[in-house]
Amino acid sequence: MTKKIPTRIYLNEEEMPKNWYNLRADMQEKPDPLLHPGTLQPVTAADLAPVFCKGVIEQELDDTTCLIPIPEGVLDFYHAYRPSPLVRAYYLEKVLDTPAEIYYKFEGTNTSGSHKLNSAGAQAFYAKEDGLTSLTTETGAGQWGTAMAMACGFFDLGLTVYMVKISSEQKPYRKALMEAYGANVIPSPSNTTESGKKLQEKNPGTGGSLGCAITEAIETAVKTDKCRYVLGSVLNHVLLHQSIIGQEAKTALDKYGVKPDIIIGCAGGGSNLGGLIAPFMGEKLAGKSNARIIAVEPASCPSFTRGRYAYDFGDTGMTTPLIRMQTLGSGFIPSANHAGGLRYHGMNSTLSKLYRDGFLEARSEVQTDVFDAAVRFMKVEGILPAPESSHAIKAAIDEALKCKQTGEKKVILFGLSGTGFFDMTAYTAYNDKTMSDQVPTDADLEKGFASIPDIPQNK
Ligand SMILES: *Cc1c(COP(=O)(O)O)cnc(C)c1O
Repeated sequence: MTKKIPTRIYLNEEEMPKNWYNLRADMQEKPDPLLHPGTLQPVTAADLAPVFCKGVIEQELDDTTCLIPIPEGVLDFYHAYRPSPLVRAYYLEKVLDTPAEIYYKFEGTNTSGSHKLNSAGAQAFYAKEDGLTSLTTETGAGQWGTAMAMACGFFDLGLTVYMVKISSEQKPYRKALMEAYGANVIPSPSNTTESGKKLQEKNPGTGGSLGCAITEAIETAVKTDKCRYVLGSVLNHVLLHQSIIGQEAKTALDKYGVKPDIIIGCAGGGSNLGGLIAPFMGEKLAGKSNARIIAVEPASCPSFTRGRYAYDFGDTGMTTPLIRMQTLGSGFIPSANHAGGLRYHGMNSTLSKLYRDGFLEARSEVQTDVFDAAVRFMKVEGILPAPESSHAIKAAIDEALKCKQTGEKKVILFGLSGTGFFDMTAYTAYNDKTMSDQVPTDADLEKGFASIPDIPQNK
């Protein structure tokens, strides 16, 4: 094996990106604006002010500024765990016997275990800058809640996390970790909000849902003095913060003159994918690259490949602004898939638009195939991948095997968004062969589509 390119490519201090990259600024056709659900007019900063921090509202509504300087305080925060490694997967290439070059950007080296810390740190920073004293959020699988707990610990802010009840029972260590960082973790639905109480009256004994936890977190933020709500995916400001992933990856690859032909990421709400691909997509939009860019989603929750492109709510409580996106309907309830972080009904509006316009490809995978790929990867590369990230591994392996057939030496880059240390229940199910693949029928999807608002914009 010749190793001209090191197995792990790192950046020096002075090579680290100092800006986030706002991909929307380079899109000729912009994603449609968020709409106020009452007036159906584009939302204004004033509409969002009771819920979100000022800094992120500005970023959410900005589709013209290309490079946004990362504040010094956020750079300090990033410095604690970045740059993340960019790894040349020599061992995976060898075991696949492929002429392709495979690289992955690994976001799982921090304690929260995923890329989510990149936006958590930025959002906590802006909250502190606004003079807030606490934040609220929701968490399903637990990754986002942990990332926010770490960020609030660092910036000395209070944090209340509404954790989907069933998940807080299944993942007691996630809860303990958030509490160790100082967060107040409340299983949702709870008795601390009107929406939580109502939901329990309607569905006694319910294990909760992400949509319900979001509704509770927003209610508490709006009712509490000097408190706002933070969201870990889907919105454009979250993708902006995650662009640090792609910026670092591109700088590191440029250092060795490597240009990826195929870029792959897993997609839940779209933040790690959007962050990884941002600078590469920018080049593609400018006609400077022909790279194929591929989103991989679970077959159990296929918002890209089987969803509708429509204005829809971000939560089941129907309290968020309307977002034009690929959606299965806010009322769609995905079957229990082990990749908890990918169980979301909608997709970021920018990625949805790029998909509609043919710049982004998408495919879906069933979970047993995804775990087969995970195990193949971890045996040779030594990293236990998160089930979410393993969707990207599956597609990367498939593309590398295609190269083996055609003899093409393509360069593949994929996002390894996190580690799977808190996902051992999923690996147990895989090992025990009790894992099953649930793919919704068209009739199942119709039920979800029925919840998409019937407004003139959707006609
Ligand atoms: C949350 C999560 C995802 C999915 O979220 P996106 O916003 O689509 O990136 C993917 N991978 C990991 C490890 C996660 O924790």
